[in-house]
Amino acid sequence: MNVTRDTPLTDFPGVGEARGKKLEKLGLSSAGDLLSWYPRDYEDRRNLYTIRDAPLEGRVCVQAVAAEHPRLSRIRKGLELVQVKVVDHTGALHLTFFNQSYMERAMKAGEEYVFYGTVTEQGRRRAMVNPILERADKQSFTGRIMPVYRLTAGISNHLLASLALRALPCAEGAAETLPQYVRQDHRLAAAEFALRNIHFPEDEKALELARRRLAFEELFYLSIGLGLLKSRRNSEGAGRSVPPRPQAEFLSLLPFAPTDAQRRVMDEVAADLAGSRPMNRLVQGDVGSGKTAVAAYAGWLCAKGGFQSALMAPTEVLAEQHYRSLSRLLAPAGVRVGLLTGSMTAAEKKKARAALAAGEMDFVVGTHALISDSVVFARLALIVADEQHRFGVAQRAALAAKSGEGNVPHVLVMSATPIPRTLALIIYGDLDVSVIDQLPPGRTPVATYVVREDKRQRMYGFVRKQAAEGRQAYIICPAVEENPDAALPGEESPALNLKAVKTYAGQLQKEVFPDLRLGVLYGKMKPKEKEAAMSAFAGGQTQVLVATTVVEVGVDVPNASLIIIENADRFGLSQLHQLRGRVGRGQHPSHCVLITATRNLEAMERLRVLASTTDGFRISEEDLKARGPGDFFGNRQHGLPRMKLADLAGDMRLLSEAQEAARGLLERDPRLSAPENRPVLDRVRRLFADTPDIFN
Ligand code: ADP
Ligand code: MG
Repeated sequence: MNVTRDTPLTDFPGVGEARGKKLEKLGLSSAGDLLSWYPRDYEDRRNLYTIRDAPLEGRVCVQAVAAEHPRLSRIRKGLELVQVKVVDHTGALHLTFFNQSYMERAMKAGEEYVFYGTVTEQGRRRAMVNPILERADKQSFTGRIMPVYRLTAGISNHLLASLALRALPCAEGAAETLPQYVRQDHRLAAAEFALRNIHFPEDEKALELARRRLAFEELFYLSIGLGLLKSRRNSEGAGRSVPPRPQAEFLSLLPFAPTDAQRRVMDEVAADLAGSRPMNRLVQGDVGSGKTAVAAYAGWLCAKGGFQSALMAPTEVLAEQHYRSLSRLLAPAGVRVGLLTGSMTAAEKKKARAALAAGEMDFVVGTHALISDSVVFARLALIVADEQHRFGVAQRAALAAKSGEGNVPHVLVMSATPIPRTLALIIYGDLDVSVIDQLPPGRTPVATYVVREDKRQRMYGFVRKQAAEGRQAYIICPAVEENPDAALPGEESPALNLKAVKTYAGQLQKEVFPDLRLGVLYGKMKPKEKEAAMSAFAGGQTQVLVATTVVEVGVDVPNASLIIIENADRFGLSQLHQLRGRVGRGQHPSHCVLITATRNLEAMERLRVLASTTDGFRISEEDLKARGPGDFFGNRQHGLPRMKLADLAGDMRLLSEAQEAARGLLERDPRLSAPENRPVLDRVRRLFADTPDIFN
């Protein structure tokens, strides 16, 4: 059979229509697809033992001769046994196969085989149950390192491995898709070697070389793609050039002295705004670090320069809160701040829209709907996205048209989710990053405790005490259906023990806090109900808010001094840190209680990290180590391609090498128009295939 990358898998022996369909489910339809279906793990089947020397632990290979013809017996309906004795010069091994009656015919007395399985010992008798076997002169899956693939129902690892083995010859003709000098500079294996050894490694060293080459390749194409995006941004149109003004003029409006970090970031933003290249900046700063002041500064600069700005908040309540604080701050300076949210009356909305279109409003605050098609701006220069975790590459592209007159708005994204800088650069792709790495003085850190179930009553007592002092409390429950990722891998999901928010709230109100006013808030509520629940809590009408993580980016309720997180071990550390940031916003000493029933020591250890530090970056590094980068709001939502081999958290060194190589290539050939770079362009296009509108 002459296999090329395009050979359909249904041409392979053993793959009929049914299996072909199942393989397609995995995204595998051609030989080439299969070669890029990298194993998720490996099984070392190289150790060959004699029957007597075979260890009794772990799976091993034993080479032996069948001493008899296999015997088939039916124990009862649905249970068939095939038994056979095999021997070598050191002794005998008794094999049993359950419900594999074909084994009776698969083996012949006198033939030599290699068996792969676990050797057990009963008395002096050695045995193996359900081994994998191959004729000794026809070994393909024993005596070597075997790939372990991700599977789907009806597709076995054995099938995928045999298909991969058959597909391998087309790796020989695999075009080298990395430029020669890149391979040389970074000591990378050739494409063919890498493909062969990622599937069937000769040894550990070869596997490492293969993995390094292929991971580099992914990161390289990712970096090239992001580089192209960035240069496209530079050429897609000018931003409105906002003239600089003395910072002191703005600072005199603030009721506090800014931190050095805030000043630095303000400078960075002002410099971006003054240029004609559209700003695309992420301001990252821990909860409470004062990001709003930076947004206010940017809006103020634009207004003073005669331009408009828009701030998008994730919820209406948050939008209203921003609206109030921004107008308080900026109205005295003559900036016309307005609000535009879904719950305003039709007439109010119409008026706000008209003001924006006429240029009679300088700074509009609203939710995502704000930038819906019906809103027209007179001279939009700046869009601020506050806590929009899912504000990625694609969303930015959608906004590009709003500025009018061929201009592209400056974009400022603000996020409290602290992610390591290198990772931010990947996730946000082409954003520039500013970090507010300093909290305003005088903040008392939120006292954090990890407690077990036996302290539950005491904890309820604590809630009551806080309420008696006039404070408010959050109680957070994981919502299984809303956040399936909250469960740690490898842990069973005791869904029944999880506090389901609605039931739990009802129970608390009735049995524990009949004397307190409880509110409830979860993702599936109607937007109106959600807003109502949040404002009732913000306004102090409810004393305890029982909620899911939807409060993660919530309103500022300075009077809330206590947050209790149920099943805390089910959350990522960064998320817990984020939740903890809901309290400690006022002058009252604040507390965070993490309840857990976990017996997992590592989980306990992770929670203790949180109790011992308030450094968001330290916490996110820990999180990254334990859970990988997927948990930082999922790459997919950012429109970035998924990496198959490269580990964005673990391969930082390799990533910076790949970035450097990508920069080098783009410097020589900024649009990849040279014929020899065609394969690279093709690969980048394919990698970004899911990201709409990036390369057209
Ligand atoms: P976040 O970064 O979480 O958005 P905010 O901008 O909401 O933080 O600021 C949190 C609180 O801290 C606000 O009440 C704000 O007025 C106050 N604040 C911000 N910067 C300073 C500062 N430099 N000194 C004192 N208080 C500040
Ligand atoms: Mg904020």
